[in-house]
This record gives sequence, C-alpha cells and structure tokens, in this order.
Amino acid sequence: MNIALVAHDKKKPDMINFTLAYTHILKQHNLFATGTTGTKINEATNMDLHLFQSGPLGGDQQIGAMIAKNEMDLVLFFRDPLTSQPHEPDIMALMRLCDVYQVPLATNLGGAEILIRALEKGFFQWREILKENDNQKGTKK
Ligand code: PGA
Repeated sequence: MNIALVAHDKKKPDMINFTLAYTHILKQHNLFATGTTGTKINEATNMDLHLFQSGPLGGDQQIGAMIAKNEMDLVLFFRDPLTSQPHEPDIMALMRLCDVYQVPLATNLGGAEILIRALEKGFFQWREILKENDNQKGTKK
C-alpha cells in the first residue's frame, strides 16, 4: 500500500511517536511524506520514505496529485486545529481528494491508531481490488 504521512509542526511529536510505535507495520509499505515530516520520521525510525516538498511549498499538492491518480491508499495527516496555516487551501484540497477517491484519511492520532490496526489486519485489500478494476476498465473514477 502507498501511505502518506504529514504532520503540522505542533503535531510532529505525535507523528514521531506514532511511527516509532508502528514501524513494524509501516515498513512493509511504501511511505510518502511532506519534507519536514518525512525527514523527522526518517531520523527517528530509519525508515525509507519518499520525500515531497515541505507542505507550505507544495508537498500537500504533490500528495494530492497521487490521490488524483488513485495511487494513494491511506493518508495520515495530523492537523493542528489551533494554528492557522498559510497553505490551508492545499490542505483542504488534499482532504477533498481523499473524499473524491474514497481514500481512508485520519487527521489525528486517534483515527490513525484505528486505521493502522485495520491495515495490519488486511482490511485495506479492497483498495487493491478497486485499483485492479479501474485498470481493467481503463477509466478514471
Ligand atoms: P512539512 O509539511 O512536513 O514540510 O512540515 C507539513 C504541512 O504543513 O503540510
């Protein structure tokens, strides 16, 4: 599965703790992250991640582009609801695309805990079936 990891600055400690706790699951998948989040995860866990631009410089849009191609299977985006973000439109666009493409999205640690356990149990296999069907049809959703 392709998994996107993003955390706003005040939520980066949550993301580090989360990725440390679930390294054994996450390392079995392809990980993508915005620049600063990904660098910090790599430093803490040693996991390989594909790094996009930093969020305010377009990283959220790069993740959105993957979602638009139905190439992202799970998005864990730890948002800071108490701080205004200069790239709020990009964040909204990313979350909107998750809804367009039925991509599971957690915006906080609590939701991420549930989704990572579902991932571990194989509950995401429907994503593969969906993508296979789309490929066979050769159509976009
Ligand atoms: P960052 O971006 O990982 O580069 O800090 C996250 C964001 O604010 O979208």
